[in-house]
This record gives sequence, C-alpha cells and structure tokens, in this order.
Amino acid sequence: MAERYDAIIIGGGHNGLTCGAYLARAGLRTPVLERRHVVGIAAVTEEIFPGFKFSVFSYLMSLLHPKVIAELELAKYGYQVLPATDMFGPLPGKDYIVFADDVAKTQASFGRFSHKDAAIYPEFDRYLMDSVKIMRKLLLETPPDPSCRDWRSFKETARLLWKYRKVGGKLFRLVDLFTMSADDYLSEWFERTEIKAVLAYYCGIGNLVGPKSPGSAYVVMHHVMGEHAGAGGLGFVRGGMGAITQAISRSGQEKGLSIRTEAEVIAIDTSAGRATGVTLADGTRYDAPIVASNVSAKLTFLRFLDKSVLPSDFVRDIETYRTFSGAFKINIACEALPNYTAFDPAACGFAYPTYTHIGPTIEYLERAYDDAKYGDISRRPFVTPVTPSFVDDSVAPPGKHVVHLFGGHAPYTLREGDWATRKDELVRNTLAVVDEFAPGFSDGIIGMQVLAPPDIETLIGSPHGHIFHGELQIDQLFWSRPAPHWADYRTPIKGLYQCGSSAHPGGGVGAVAGHNAAREILRDRRT
Ligand SMILES: Cc1cc2nc3c(=O)[nH]c(=O)nc-3n(C[C@H](O)[C@H](O)[C@H](O)COP(=O)(O)OP(=O)(O)OC[C@H]3O[C@@H](n4cnc5c(N)ncnc54)[C@H](O)[C@@H]3O)c2cc1C
Repeated sequence: MAERYDAIIIGGGHNGLTCGAYLARAGLRTPVLERRHVVGIAAVTEEIFPGFKFSVFSYLMSLLHPKVIAELELAKYGYQVLPATDMFGPLPGKDYIVFADDVAKTQASFGRFSHKDAAIYPEFDRYLMDSVKIMRKLLLETPPDPSCRDWRSFKETARLLWKYRKVGGKLFRLVDLFTMSADDYLSEWFERTEIKAVLAYYCGIGNLVGPKSPGSAYVVMHHVMGEHAGAGGLGFVRGGMGAITQAISRSGQEKGLSIRTEAEVIAIDTSAGRATGVTLADGTRYDAPIVASNVSAKLTFLRFLDKSVLPSDFVRDIETYRTFSGAFKINIACEALPNYTAFDPAACGFAYPTYTHIGPTIEYLERAYDDAKYGDISRRPFVTPVTPSFVDDSVAPPGKHVVHLFGGHAPYTLREGDWATRKDELVRNTLAVVDEFAPGFSDGIIGMQVLAPPDIETLIGSPHGHIFHGELQIDQLFWSRPAPHWADYRTPIKGLYQCGSSAHPGGGVGAVAGHNAAREILRDRRT
C-alpha cells in the first residue's frame, strides 16, 4: 500500500530542499526522497579524513539568493558567510595580480601592468554591472514560451517584455555576452593578457570551453552574479557548504517538511499523462498528484520515465542536452597552506590569499582547453586553490589545513586510456602547477580525494559529472533550459515539475530553481 502525500520531491540537493521547504510552508505534506545517506550532494560537508571536513564539491559561496536566505530564515538555522580575501593571481617570474571588490584597489593592481587598462576599468565595471543587474532580475523570472500561441504563454511573454522594456539598448550588451568569446569581449576594453585572464578565468568553469570559444563571455558573468562580500561576491560558509543544505533542511523541517535519506527513486509513476507518485529501488511506493524532480533532466526523463509517455521532440531535446564536462576537484588534507613565492602581505593588503587563481594569461587558459578539446588531460591545468581552514577553525585540526584544488580541464571521455589508469596524471599535472607557484606544497600532503568527472558523475548523479547539470550556453539557457517549450518548471507530464539545476537559471548554489519551481507549483494549485 503506497503512502499518500500532497507533493513529493525527488532528490535532496539544495534546490530540492528549497522547493520542499516552500511547499511545506504553504501547508503541503511533502517528503524529500534522497538517494544518499546525506542530503545536499553538491553542497555537502563530509569528513573524508579524520578531523578534516571538506566541502566535497562546491566550495565557495556567492550565488545563494538573498530572497531565499531571508524567507527561509537561514541565519536562524546556522547559515553564516565568512568573506574570502581578494583574489590573488600568481604570475610567472614572482609577479602577481590582485582582483578585489573595491574598484580602486583592482585599478591599482591593473595599473602595474597597463595605465590604459587601469584607467578604463571603472567604466568596464559599471558596464558589466549594468548587465549583471538585468540578469539578477531575470533569475527570479519563470521563462515564458514565446513560441506558444496559447493565451497564458502570450500573456506571460507580453508581461516579461513590458517589465523589461527599459532594458532598451542594453539588450545588445546581453547579446554580446551570450554570443562573444570571453577574449573578444574583454579585448574591446583591455590590452594586457594578464588582466583579461583575471576576468576570463571563470569562462571554463562549468563549461568545456576556452576563452576564445564563442559564448564563453556569458559564463564569466554567471559566476559574478552573487551578492555576497569578497572578490566577485565570494565567501566561505562556516562549517563548509553542507551548512547551507543543513540550514535549508532545518528551516523546512520546522514547517513540516520530511526528509528521507537512502531512498533511491527508480521510477516516476504516471497514469493518463499525469504524475501519480514514485517508486523506490526497494519497491516502496509514494503517491502524490505533484512530483518535483531535483535530479538532472536526463535522469528524470530518460531513466525514471518510459519514453513512450513523452512527446518525441521533447525526448530528442533532452537526449541532446549537452552535459559534457571537464571540471575536476582535488580535496587535500595537509600540514601547511600553499606558500606562494609572489605573495607579499603588505603589498597585497591581506594576511594570506584564501582564494587564488592559477591561470596567468589568456594563452594559458586556451592551451588548457586545447588539450581537453582533443580528449587529453590539460598538461598545465588552470587551478583554483581555496583554503577555508585559514578562516574557519571548524574544518581542520589545529595547525593543519584543508585545501581545495578546483580546476580544468579533465575531459570525461579520454582519447587514450581511461580514468581508472590516468588519474595519477591529473594529480601530477595539477600539483606541478601549484608547486611551481608555491614550492614544496605537495610535500605536506596528508591525504587526497581526487574527483575526476566520472567520480563526480557517480557521486552526484549528474551526467558526465557536469557541475551545473548541463552546459550554460545560450541554446541551453532561460526559455531553452532544459528544452524549448518546457522551461517554466512544468513538463509534458501534468503534475511533474523540475526544480533543480537543469532548469533556469542553471547551476550554482543559488536555490533559485527550487524557489521558482515551488512558486509555479503553488500557482497551478490555485488555478
Ligand atoms: C566539483 C564541484 C564544484 C562546484 N563548485 C561550486 C562553487 O564553488 N560554488 C557554487 O555556487 N556552485 C558550485 N558547484 C555547482 C553546485 O554545487 C551545483 O550546481 C548545485 O549544488 C546543484 O544543486 P541542485 O540541488 O540543483 O542539484 P544536486 O546537488 O545535484 O542535487 C540532486 C540530488 O538528487 C539526488 N539524487 C540523484 N539521483 C537520485 C535518485 N535516483 N533518487 C533520489 N535522489 C537522487 C542526489 O544525490 C542529489 O542530492 C560545484 C559543483 C561541483 C560538482
């Protein structure tokens, strides 16, 4: 006999929990069903080595939406951000570059390389922030279907156009961001490659692209849409990223949300084109007229459902939704922090760089991509060493440290050999780069967890180990995410919704997809 509920959430990622928390607040009896022993897979803290707590996957906070933080009262449930320092970028020859939220400080750093670039930086910052402001507003919108002729879609499209009528000429700025390469976009402003590399660094994070790939300019902006303190709005969460998921869980549970772990969904049950519930791997059934899936679109539609219940065009769109990823992460327990040769606390204005980019020029970033484009591990990957234990004493034993090395590229499919035999090469290449700028770092390693894309795929269930559940390119964003006509969190199956990163606005620990999906579910219940 199946248990009966008002709504069911498949997957206890931070988006599923957010969706569930909002539904519980609206009085819906809602269980969240999570496959693993712990919720919040891509935003999780786990003790991998005794005494060392890792933000195993996501590691920096920037995108969590202020509306969600306030409405779910996350501070009350332990959510606390510790600002990261300005970004420190070591360069060859013991030189360095700094990027700060403070425009004057960044300008002074850029001025060491080019007076022209330094002079124009404040204008560039204003120009980019104009686009960021528009994008921040669009985050909370439900994408309409502009091609559909029913009354509701027409009304929603017209409403959106009217609301954003003042965007006017700035629309062309957005078109540039969505279509241009990061290098072309930045070359319209800056001359020095070191400066362009600071700003283009993010273009390869989450998408397998280089700074010269068309469309890579957008990803630069996706990463700076956060509104927290620190360089580019980045910070650490006290207790690691799992503290976010725990805060969202507790907020929901206080309003009646139930959370079941080790509950793996294997099928979404349907009848006459409607969702009726889900079936777990152990045969347990849960019934509800509403099912919201936090799991990637490919699994939701191609594994949990029989294709015959879906329109064939939609199946094709989901089959071709691109999830190919090249991001890797190495979580390190160590004796000492990286000691960068080029770092000078007095000159940089902070005691230690907790947030570093190793990717000194556009050419360096592009070469890292060149290797991956042809199926090889980057010989010299770009690497982001991040050191939360410098500001958070709860994540490592006294005097020891946690260092996250996030970087690219490590293509999911290798041209030669496989990941079972070539993981050591990824470790060697990455540590060689870190040791080049911080000599001796690898000598102090106590333990290491190496996550290549197939490991990420196995652990978080995102196809190809894609960190955002799918690429952030114009054809997979807004009213096309994850598929045209079905970007409003609804699906061809009535009562089945998407509430995770495969839907607008995509990946990152922002909780926006969960928030927006809950709003649409509640709207449908009212009509
Ligand atoms: C290595 C890495 C580094 C990252 N770094 C950052 C960062 O620093 N900052 C940032 O903002 N973002 C970062 N991201 C991206 C961010 O973590 C994700 O985009 C975000 O956490 C996804 O949240 P979600 O709730 O949409 O999906 P997920 O967290 O993927 O949640 C899906 C949930 O569904 C569960 N599930 C899967 N299959 C089933 C099933 N059959 N039955 C039941 N449950 C199931 C999963 O276990 C999981 O808990 C990173 C991601 C990775 C992988």
